[in-house]
Amino acid sequence: MTAVLEKVRDLEDFLVMPDDEIAESIEAARSELGRRVVILGHHYQRDDVIRHADLSGDSYQLSVMASQTDAEFIVFCGVHFMAESADILGKPHQRVILPDLGAGCSMADMASIDQVEDAWEQLRDIGVLDAKVAPITYMNSSAAIKAFCGRNEGVVCTSSNAVPLFDIYLKEYDKMFFFPDQHLGRNTGAKFGIPLDKMVVWNPHEELGGNTPEALLDAKLILWRGHCSVHGRFKAWHVDKIREEVSGVQVLVHPECTREVVEKSDLDGSTSFIIKTVENSPSGSKWAIGTEVNLVSRLAQRFPDKEIHLLAPDLCMCATMYRIAPQNLAWAMANLLEETVVNEIAVDDETKHFANIALGRMISLTESKTGN
Ligand code: SF4
Repeated sequence: MTAVLEKVRDLEDFLVMPDDEIAESIEAARSELGRRVVILGHHYQRDDVIRHADLSGDSYQLSVMASQTDAEFIVFCGVHFMAESADILGKPHQRVILPDLGAGCSMADMASIDQVEDAWEQLRDIGVLDAKVAPITYMNSSAAIKAFCGRNEGVVCTSSNAVPLFDIYLKEYDKMFFFPDQHLGRNTGAKFGIPLDKMVVWNPHEELGGNTPEALLDAKLILWRGHCSVHGRFKAWHVDKIREEVSGVQVLVHPECTREVVEKSDLDGSTSFIIKTVENSPSGSKWAIGTEVNLVSRLAQRFPDKEIHLLAPDLCMCATMYRIAPQNLAWAMANLLEETVVNEIAVDDETKHFANIALGRMISLTESKTGN
């Protein structure tokens, strides 16, 4: 154990430590713990944290990859719902750590299980549930909402597999109730030609979500009024402006952006799709990308032969994920050396069981549709 790690265990000790000692202590702890620990870094994570990650990727990928290791400790440098997903999908002996419990997701926080259950009962009261209605939740939601979907014939989706899952559910169900990102729901619904007046928005702070019973009975998609505070910063005028300023630029955005932004863009897709599209593009190609700034900056560094711009001039950063600083990671790792698990994220068994049903449906239905 290094002298640095022998002296410190409290978070306060790490907060005043110079950056190089922080980095040294993380690496020292990692080499002592060996394969007992795996550090996960989400694509949107800051550079000074991602450099310590054993695995990087999107939230679902990371949870699956961690579950395929035998690590006892999964240190998730992401946000709260991601750590829950890692616990749901992980092996029974694996324990999940979120280095800062304040790292939440503003979108996931826009739908609580109480609000969702209340909305479902309101739909039942006015007869909407007399038809076949499936609840579908984006991965970016609490474990409790994933479990709600598992209990009610519903499914979880990611931004990569939303299209094949919508395809299946739109054929087999009369309507879908989609949580919590209205934009991913609307952008995916539009790919199937669902008109905007058949996609109503449910505001959890109003009776019947702010809709008439007739509108809810007539809707094909009911979209929870949630959004991502990062992707919501991209505006349609940013697309117009970059096209004026950069001749030949292609605009590539995440489907968490608004409908107006997606409509004006050339391509839209998940973070994996964005990365692959840039990777496979020819040298000299020009891209304006509408997603989190850390991911876009790293793409620009990786591909100096391509011209890569962030779609919006202001900083589109996931501020809650940014809360996971190297100091928090160093603190969590140092405690593991003493067999102390700090900031553990543990989902209760019943929630885990039903959330796994919804995730299992996602996996098998996606495989049945895409073959992978
Ligand atoms: S980028 Fe948006 S959806 Fe993703 S974790 Fe941050 S707030 Fe949540």
